[in-house]
Amino acid sequence: QTYSQDEKAVDFIALAAHELRGPITVIRGYLDVLSDELSETLSANQKELMERLDVSASRLSGYISNILNAAKYDRRVFKIHLVEEKLSNIYTAIADDLALRARTQGRLLSVTIADDLPTIAADRNTLSEVLANLVDNAIKYSREGGQVVVTAAVDGNFVKCSVQDFGIGIPTSVMNNLFGKFYRSHRSRSSVSGTGLGLYISKAVVESHGGKMGVTSKEGEGSVFSFSIPIYSTVADKLASSHNGN
Ligand code: ADP
Repeated sequence: QTYSQDEKAVDFIALAAHELRGPITVIRGYLDVLSDELSETLSANQKELMERLDVSASRLSGYISNILNAAKYDRRVFKIHLVEEKLSNIYTAIADDLALRARTQGRLLSVTIADDLPTIAADRNTLSEVLANLVDNAIKYSREGGQVVVTAAVDGNFVKCSVQDFGIGIPTSVMNNLFGKFYRSHRSRSSVSGTGLGLYISKAVVESHGGKMGVTSKEGEGSVFSFSIPIYSTVADKLASSHNGN
């Protein structure tokens, strides 16, 4: 079999990203242990440094996941495993991380995801990365003191989750490019760190769930990014008849 230059590049990136996952997991683990063990002895200043370390490490690990998933998706070896899940539980798993990110960057994060919403057919890991990507963007592309509001509601056969910010917003002229691979607006390129893969892979993940991704925005006023995931009961039969929810 012969590979094109592009495929070789993707292979290399996937391999590199895969190798980066081990060390970053170790770093995050020891950071956790350290901040627990030192919690009594650290000064307020040192605590803040630890928190910033923690936030940077979790961001880095998010970027690595995005790179790895995008490479897999492009090679068509990206797999998700759909099972019955509560959106509120999926959020709970990443809530502390995102709360810390918001706090260290001076954003006010408010999350309301009712526990009694219908369950969804979801792949917990990849869907939590979608949530993290959207909340992270809402933090990155808004101002100090800005609000970030996460809500969820039933929308037909779907549970729709929205992430709203009151930040820089998006000009109509670039709305169509947002979900493109490596797209970053020229304003963000210089001032905010990122890979331009977050929305690309988030859309791929949501669509692999049989869902839809949406965005509304006004330049200078803010944006609402949302995704809809099928309610479990509406797809349960289909999942049962396909082998294992893949
Ligand atoms: P990254 O954030 O790494 O640049 P993304 O794929 O997550 O990559 O986003 C692509 C681009 O879309 C960003 O560079 C930014 O220009 C724009 N964008 C994404 N989310 C928002 C938001 N909440 N507000 C304004 N612009 C956004």
